Amino acid sequence: MKDISYIINHLGEDRENYYNAITPPVFQTSNYVFRNVNEIRKAIADEKNSHIYSRGNNPTLDMLCKKVAALEDTDEALAFASGMAAISSALISFVNSGDHIVSVRNNYSWTNMLMTKFFPRFGVETTFVDGRVPENFAKAIRKNTRIIYLESPNSITFELQDIEAVAAIAKERGLTTLIDNSYSSPLTQSPASMGVDIILHSASKYLGGHSDIVAGMVCGSSENIARIFKNEYLGLGGILSPFNAWLMLRGLRTLQARIDRISETTGKVIRYFENHPLVSEVLHPLSPGHPQYELAVKQMLKPTGLFSVRLNISDIDKAELFVNSLRQFIIGVSWGGHESLVFPVMSFDAERVKEGYTSNLVRFYIGLDDADCLIRDLDQAFDKIT
Ligand SMILES: *Cc1c(COP(=O)(O)O)cnc(C)c1O
Repeated sequence: MKDISYIINHLGEDRENYYNAITPPVFQTSNYVFRNVNEIRKAIADEKNSHIYSRGNNPTLDMLCKKVAALEDTDEALAFASGMAAISSALISFVNSGDHIVSVRNNYSWTNMLMTKFFPRFGVETTFVDGRVPENFAKAIRKNTRIIYLESPNSITFELQDIEAVAAIAKERGLTTLIDNSYSSPLTQSPASMGVDIILHSASKYLGGHSDIVAGMVCGSSENIARIFKNEYLGLGGILSPFNAWLMLRGLRTLQARIDRISETTGKVIRYFENHPLVSEVLHPLSPGHPQYELAVKQMLKPTGLFSVRLNISDIDKAELFVNSLRQFIIGVSWGGHESLVFPVMSFDAERVKEGYTSNLVRFYIGLDDADCLIRDLDQAFDKIT
């Protein structure tokens, strides 16, 4: 079993290299110098393991990557300037013109944009499938399919994929699987243990955890990471800045405490919604009413803070009044930080509306607030519409 406390507090620190300070310095440097020609020659021959220039390596990022790779049970990781930089670089590394991707439908909106608008310009096609049935992935595989892309659960509607089953289908056909694991954090879902090859994170969410950075991670085998490093990482240049890496390191110190707290509070809040007459559906994978609850229990360790509820009202103005009446929950996109958020799906423009995105659907994120305080806020907002 992996030792999360050791990983978070000690792995990769090398404190003797920085005066035994408990907190690592920010290596705010673009460049590194060498004493002689032979030294720089050796570094260039082994760029992956050298400090030459901070578009490739930086000691603050090295520390961070070791920790995140260990949390995800993979050999190595790379840190990117955003979740989308991580996702796009990883995807690009596996496809050539003429190749085909099988992806879960309703994936994160910008990943979806990449697959529907960007990749076709370079001759890469994607088939989207209802990911609730593993066989749908098998059926969509073609001769030129290279990868299977998962996001379990996807946001807004929170449909799950049976990760182990889909990874097995991919293995059998010699395909690579990638998963966006941002929803769960490495602490509550472990895709590597279920056979997934590449694990992606928007570290702007739980890994950073304080709503103060935009960042992304790619985790995988040494072989895959070395290839991505040499090509997409250095070539597209999407590396995270040293300071943001330092902020993520600081965020990681409290990852377990935050996830535990969020998990407990979320349990209380979803129970409140499950019993509320003005709520017809709670779309949280670990809410017993979720149609894939058993699968969620099998592959997810505990609840995290993002979910939607379908309000039991037909008057959309009332749904809007409900959202506008919330005070502790503030209106915004994103999630994973300290603040509790509400995102009204009715605010989507026509282009973004997908199957199941009804205007009585409201997405919530439970931050570090107290459960009773959040429930009081919901009570007073429900009172406004009854
Ligand atoms: C936010 C998010 C992303 C994109 O990450 P950025 O850090 O905003 O680029 C990708 N996937 C999921 C599931 C997300 O929630």
